[in-house]
Formats: sequence, structure tokens, C-alpha cells
Amino acid sequence: MTGSAAGGPPAGAGPTDTDWAAAVAAVRGLPAGARVLLVCHVNPDGDALGSMLGFGLGLRRLGVRQLQATFPGPLEVPEPFRWLPGSDLLVAQDDAYPDPDLMICFDAASESRLGDLVDRLDKAGAALVLDHHASNTGFGGIHLVDPHAAATSVVALGLLDRLGVALDAEIAACLYVALSTDTGSFRFEATTPAVHELAARLLATGIRPGEISRKIFDTRPFGAVRLFGEVVGRARLEPAAAAGHGLVWTYATRDDLARHDQPAYVLEALIDSVRCTAEADVSCVVKQAGDAEWAVSLRSKGAVDVSQVAMALGGGGHRFAAGFTGRGTVDEVVDRIRAELPGALLPA
Ligand code: 5GP
Ligand code: MN
Repeated sequence: MTGSAAGGPPAGAGPTDTDWAAAVAAVRGLPAGARVLLVCHVNPDGDALGSMLGFGLGLRRLGVRQLQATFPGPLEVPEPFRWLPGSDLLVAQDDAYPDPDLMICFDAASESRLGDLVDRLDKAGAALVLDHHASNTGFGGIHLVDPHAAATSVVALGLLDRLGVALDAEIAACLYVALSTDTGSFRFEATTPAVHELAARLLATGIRPGEISRKIFDTRPFGAVRLFGEVVGRARLEPAAAAGHGLVWTYATRDDLARHDQPAYVLEALIDSVRCTAEADVSCVVKQAGDAEWAVSLRSKGAVDVSQVAMALGGGGHRFAAGFTGRGTVDEVVDRIRAELPGALLPA
């Protein structure tokens, strides 16, 4: 099903009152003993985990007891997020309820982002989707998809408020991690007055922003520091790409990770060390995910809609932050990106 639960305006307009009412009814109508499965996207980031676990804690406060949270792939939570409250809800995907009464998806723009857990969508009694990607495909039954929301956690808090869940420090810590990661620590364009008001509500619970930021942004093993040095050192600048707006890119292989004895998640922060390049509007990191498979991160400073590039190559995301899975060699993947850039220029 596509569009809103009411068959009203398309998802681009954000949730309607009817959508919110349908979501509230799906939670409030759960019978005693109902099993609820929370799922977020593969290779979960701060928004995926934070919005899922924060919402999960809210459901627990409402008395939901049969509650699990999971994501596709091995149950390996990136070290910076292991301390998150609600982590005890996490189970391996193989242990997740095969046919939950309610399934709730967080921060996943398409079914493909749910990996092997996608089979639960059809087997669940109801499927609720909380997301903020304009590229959301409209999968699932009830849609709370707000492309104007800075993070999925904004949508999650909107639903918790409507369910009458009181914000506490544990829920707030999760939602703050989600909000601060997806806004780049309140630096990106999506950082509206409403985002700061929301952050103020979260901080008022007593959570410590300095401590949280240090854990999620400013701590990494020394091996990762050395690995970054090597990978950033091989970055290429192409000033003529994207009709002269410039492209900077680099890549990291599984060998690079092994040589420095680092887990794959440390590469998620790499794009931030590359995208600061003044001479390039578009930045790109190509991370090896399989023998000839690469997870690609794309960022833009405003001249290019990188979600168009990602969608053309089978992925998705936001205008200025997007990604896809590429196949072949690094050069082939970058060739395809370079070719898509001129067609994805935004009006000056
Ligand atoms: P990142 O580069 O941080 O992994 O992702 C940036 C944005 O692009 C996020 O909003 C993420 O959800 C989206 N994204 C990254 N990879 C993929 C992908 O393979 N498919 C889709 N649909 N979206 C992606
Ligand atoms: Mn997000």
C-alpha cells in the first residue's frame, strides 16, 4: 500500500490526523499479552537504534511486556551505542517473533533495508512504519512518514506524546542520540527551531549532552584513528565533477579494516572526515561490504540532490545525505556515481 493510511495525500506531505489516529489505535488496541516487534534498518545508526529503543521504552511504560527489538544481520551494536537504555530489548533476528501482533519499523525507507526481517511484514497482525525519508516507498500498513522531520525520533516522540507516555531520562537519552546524530549535532539544514525546542524537552529530563556526544561522536579506538589516516590519505579530488561543483571520494576495504583490527562500523564516521573538503560539493565513501559489494555514503553541500543519485543506483536517503549498495570494482562504482551527478544538480 502506498500513501497515507487514509488514502489521502502522498507521504511527502507528512502524516495526517487520520494516520496518527490509526497508529495510536494500533498500539492502544493491542490485547493483553500481544507480541510487539520493533525493527530498524540494516547497519543501524544513531537514529535507527535511538528511535527504536526510545519508543520501545515508551511501550514498556505503557505496560507492553512481550516486546522485542531487532535489526537485520548479526546482532552487533556499534560500540558507541551499546550503552543506550533499552538495549535489553534487543534480540538476534533469528530469535525475533516470526508473526508478531504488531510490527513497528524505524528509519527504514524501503523493505530492502529490513533484510531477512522483511518476511515479518506480511506475517504481522499490523505493520506500522515510522520514518522521515522522502524516498520512503510506502511499504507497511500504517505510515507515519514525515520527510520534514529531522530524524525518525521526531516522529517517534510525536507518537509517544499522543500515546500519553511521559518523557523520562532513559527515553530522552535514546531520542537525543537519534536527533543529534541525524542533525550532525544540530548543524544540518533540518535543524529548525522545532528541533531545538524538542532538544530542550529532552535535555530538561536531566540527560548529559557532553557525556552523550563524547560517547557517540568523539571516541574511537587508536586503530581507527590510524585507519582513518590511511583512508583519508588516499582521497581523490575531482574539481570538474558535478558540472564543476566538485567531487571528493575515497574507499576502504575489508583488508584495511583487518590490518588495523577494526570492526566495520568505525567507517561510518569516515564521511565526516572527507566531506569537509572545501573544493567539493559532493563527497563519497565507498566501503567494502562483500567480495564485489560496496556500501556507498554520499553527501552534498547543496548543489546536488544525492538522493537522486542514490535512487538511480538502487538506494535512497535524503537530498544531502544518501546511500546505496554498489557492485563491481571501486572504480566502476565511482564511475556510475560521477555519471549521475550532472543530472542531479539542484537549481542554483
Ligand atoms: P549513510 O551514508 O549514513 O549510511 O546513509 C545516509 C542516508 O542514506 C541515510 O538516510 C540512510 O538511510 C540512506 N541510505 C544509506 N544507504 C542506503 C541504501 O543502501 N538504501 C537506501 N534506501 N538508503 C540508504
Ligand atoms: Mn534517520
